[in-house]
Amino acid sequence: MESEGLDEIDKANKTNELDDITASLNISRERRRSLVLYVNTDGILVKAPLRTSMKEINQFIEEKQQWIKRTLRKMKERDGRARAIYENNHILYRGLELPLIKEEGVNERNAGMVLGDMSFDGVFYISKKAWPRRYELVVNWLKQKAKHELPAKLNEWARACSLEPTKTRITNARTVWGSCSFDGHVNLSWRLIMAPDYVQDAVIVHELAHLKHKNHSRRFYEELNTCFPAYKKGDEWLETWGLALIPEKYVLK
Ligand SMILES: [Zn+2]
Repeated sequence: MESEGLDEIDKANKTNELDDITASLNISRERRRSLVLYVNTDGILVKAPLRTSMKEINQFIEEKQQWIKRTLRKMKERDGRARAIYENNHILYRGLELPLIKEEGVNERNAGMVLGDMSFDGVFYISKKAWPRRYELVVNWLKQKAKHELPAKLNEWARACSLEPTKTRITNARTVWGSCSFDGHVNLSWRLIMAPDYVQDAVIVHELAHLKHKNHSRRFYEELNTCFPAYKKGDEWLETWGLALIPEKYVLK
């Protein structure tokens, strides 16, 4: 997830002052009963009931200051990590940081897959003329890969766990890597193809387990743990690298 909700407060440790961190503050007044606060890489968002005074809002922010600073720092670290990949002309594919290399034309010696101005043999070769569009080409290639590979993988897991979805769809979702609807449809974001295989597995099995339990109850986690005991490792990877799965944030505007 790109945003963090207030439940994080429970986990907050005492941290040092981080006065070097600044962030924009947005206040949205809505028909709601209580104040809520979100922090993401774009800044802080406070949703407040319609008649809340600025004094109350400021006090609310003041109380959460340590948590806000800690979360902003964490977001900044995640953002920096993802940004570095793109600034160095790399992209993630199956968890590997692979370079994009400029070539005069698509070279015949590249035995890998050739797609017009791009070829792949473990690194991405981009013709000189297509270089300005390099990320567009690579992302299209990744989307194609995702369309073929993720449903196949999901089918294997569905058989292995005896949890069959009624339909599978590959989506463009940015922060929800997978979802499961009440009528048994499983959606997976194409972006998962950028994550390591065990992360793809963790998300797929998580959504399949929702076919049986439409919640995050103890029984749900028991089901998940039976099919894929390493699921927590997948969540951890996504926590650390999730932003790198959103090239739109860095190179595709
Ligand atoms: Zn879930």
